[in-house]
Amino acid sequence: QHLIELQAVKKIFYTDDLETWALNNIHLTIDAGEYVSISGPSGCGKSTLLSVMGLLSSFTEGKYLLNGAEVSSLGEAEQARVRNQEIGFIFQAFNLIGDMSVFENVELPLTFRNDLSRKQRHEMVVEALEQVEIGHRQKHYPAELSGGQQQRVAIARALVGKPKVLLADEPTGNLDSKNAQIVMDQLAALHRKGSTIVMVTHDPRSAEQAQRQVSLFDGKLVDDRTMSQGVRMA
Ligand code: ADP
Ligand code: ADP
Repeated sequence: QHLIELQAVKKIFYTDDLETWALNNIHLTIDAGEYVSISGPSGCGKSTLLSVMGLLSSFTEGKYLLNGAEVSSLGEAEQARVRNQEIGFIFQAFNLIGDMSVFENVELPLTFRNDLSRKQRHEMVVEALEQVEIGHRQKHYPAELSGGQQQRVAIARALVGKPKVLLADEPTGNLDSKNAQIVMDQLAALHRKGSTIVMVTHDPRSAEQAQRQVSLFDGKLVDDRTMSQGVRMA
């Protein structure tokens, strides 16, 4: 059983009399523990694909199975639960809340859950902050951190609820090359520890750091290659 399975997914945007086939018959399976990059030119459907996988966007035709269960047919409340508990999002713009501390930002997704005590939440936040080596900044506010540190806080927030998959949309798009590499190294380390990561990027150097590289062109999946361990070291 695959973690993610897209079967013949089509997404058509209708604007006035214009049809845009953002996703054109996508078949894609991703297994637990994979690190997959999705790349291709602007407008090829990368963000649309990621938002379909993240249950942020509906689609026109096809099926989406998460852990073997069809999620496309779930009601809105159940989709929201899956989105909150099983999927972690990392955005280009970090999307941290400015008047909350680092600790509060990372705790936020857990506060929507009713299955955790305050003590459990606290332990999970501390563990997530340690995973991305930003625990010493837990009392700081986002504006007091560098872009790279803010993105590490955002990664901690994405993984704090122990989601089944991390979805990252251009996670290094707002960072200089040094901070971008730090964030890429964090993602690689999370992958080594077993996280499943799907990352959208138009930057070939970021794409190369994933173990499996999927390419889109004009809404179609045109390439899908898995690197051997040795090649990835280069
Ligand atoms: P990418 O992330 O690769 O740049 P997108 O997934 O954003 O590509 O877009 C794929 C195609 O769908 C593009 O042609 C884009 O203009 C179109 N598109 C995306 N979102 C919408 C929307 N909400 N309404 C209409 N067209 C859209
Ligand atoms: P859905 O409602 O199918 O989940 P999205 O959430 O992807 O669709 O898009 C929501 C809205 O964003 C669209 O209705 C559209 O108004 C706007 N939008 C985003 N990107 C584009 C684009 N490239 N062209 C036109 N509208 C866009």
